[in-house]
Amino acid sequence: MSLPSEAPLTFRAPARTGARAPLEQRRLTLVFPPMTMPTSPPLGIAMLKAYIEREMPQWRVTIIDLNIWLFRFLLEGIERGEISLTDAMHRRMGADTATLLHAARAFSGLDDEAFYQRPDVYDLHGRTFLNFTEVFREMLTEECAQWEAGGEPSYLLKTLVERVLESQPQMLGVSMIFSEQLPIGAMLGRWMREQAGLKVFFGGSCFTEGVEHFMKWYPKAADAIVTGDGELPLKALLESGGNPRGVAGATWREGEEVVRLPASYQKDIDAFGAPDFSTIDFSRYYSPRPVAALLLSRGCYWRKCTFCVHFHSAGDTYRLHSLDNVIEMLKRMVDQGVRHFSFVDEMIAPGHFVRLAQAIRAANLDIAYYALSKPNKTFTPEILREMAASGCKYILWGLESGNQRILDLMGKGTKVDEVAEVLHDARAAGIHNHVYVICGFPTETPEEFTDTLDFLWKNRDAISAIHRSVFSLEQGSPISKDLAKFSIDEVWLRQDGPLGGRMGYRCASGVTMEQAAAQFQAALPMFRRFNPYAQYMANFRDHALLLYAQRGPTLDFSRRGIPMPSALALRHVAEAAGAPAPVRDEPELINDAA
Ligand code: SF4
Repeated sequence: MSLPSEAPLTFRAPARTGARAPLEQRRLTLVFPPMTMPTSPPLGIAMLKAYIEREMPQWRVTIIDLNIWLFRFLLEGIERGEISLTDAMHRRMGADTATLLHAARAFSGLDDEAFYQRPDVYDLHGRTFLNFTEVFREMLTEECAQWEAGGEPSYLLKTLVERVLESQPQMLGVSMIFSEQLPIGAMLGRWMREQAGLKVFFGGSCFTEGVEHFMKWYPKAADAIVTGDGELPLKALLESGGNPRGVAGATWREGEEVVRLPASYQKDIDAFGAPDFSTIDFSRYYSPRPVAALLLSRGCYWRKCTFCVHFHSAGDTYRLHSLDNVIEMLKRMVDQGVRHFSFVDEMIAPGHFVRLAQAIRAANLDIAYYALSKPNKTFTPEILREMAASGCKYILWGLESGNQRILDLMGKGTKVDEVAEVLHDARAAGIHNHVYVICGFPTETPEEFTDTLDFLWKNRDAISAIHRSVFSLEQGSPISKDLAKFSIDEVWLRQDGPLGGRMGYRCASGVTMEQAAAQFQAALPMFRRFNPYAQYMANFRDHALLLYAQRGPTLDFSRRGIPMPSALALRHVAEAAGAPAPVRDEPELINDAA
């Protein structure tokens, strides 16, 4: 990559923490670091801005989505000819610069024909955009590591720092959801603490587990990390001048020790207020229409899935916003010109879903949305029809497995037959179904994984996308606390990382980790073909919403050519056993209509 040789950077000295600001108001900046999906604005910093400015009027809060800022900086710089990509980058992207820029234009709403009507073009754009993100994420991660090791900061790192300093913060909050954001978040935090003298706080849902480890991995990055709800701890930290002692939910260093205070959870989450997106320019995001994330609850009412750590961020609580509050939030967003929403709750229970749908209809809100849930029989055809009528375009269902023994071991509380019924009823109601699948759960045999493939194949008419993963043993998950129940007889640290790294494990029965990975690879061609529009659509969840809202009923399921699981099963069993796999680029394809 070549960048402008004369870096247009001037590092202004910011106002220091502790010194009186020239303005009466104090200035807090909340940042969402790169690089992750740039299709809609981050919710967490918008929620914190609203709460802090209401509760502490002496503070003015600036929110910076540094992720979208960097995407625009790079892509607009490339378009103006100020930044050029190397041949190696083009090879990694599998596309030239013109294709990348066309993808950016189509995703910005400047070529609806390419986005909504040309699955072949969408696939090219989707792959190019994902690869572009990966190339720059890797580059920035490497540059952060070099800087951490004492090297000079790169041009891009300095540019990111400069963008944050423009807001002249007196305190800084860094909110992160994905582990990919951690290196840049840590770089920003350390820089601001050491060179700008700011107090820096970290928070966000990626700090569910491994907070103490992070404090040791990046010892200079933050004055405190906040877990659980961010609102109350952030307010307490601002009140204390950044001193975390006594702040519930804070973790900090005392010399070589790391101290962590348990989080407390406010029951009435309506009291936190609605997110403030008023300073967000939705047209800068890479979605043809604005999409906003909203949270209607905190935590998960189920909290029994043995592989899961997501619900930990809300403690053992499940708290709902009142429907009046939700409708107010939606109306406010509609007034701002947004009518597509992702409800990013861990899951929405059927009883609540139907009340939500009825309230949306009663308020005459013309919106489209998607959400996550668990497919059980309480989703009746009537409830699903009500949801569809209220604007529900698709649901991400926690299917996980098509084998009942594995589902029971996972603690899902679902029945294979009932799941199939819910998926077909949802489809009949006009809702698209995306399903999560886990490959290689402890003790799972190749035959049991084949049951999952068979389930997907049999119910293919009702499934529009598969979100898949190989089982990963998460520290803090119920499995990690009761290894014997899952026949795990050995656990080790496979690869260290900022949040505690990846765990290896050995199971007394079922496939090994390596065999699970081989099975997964063998099944990928089948998984990919479930999308009725383009194979990369499900990688961009906000795009899937827009596409279903526009083209949902007209999508053609009959041409997907989903491979037969029997062919896959043969192949993955062979690979799992260490035998040479049949030489074939793609498993045989059978049209659904055949
Ligand atoms: S996987 Fe979903 S339903 Fe299960 S405990 Fe986790 S958040 Fe709840």
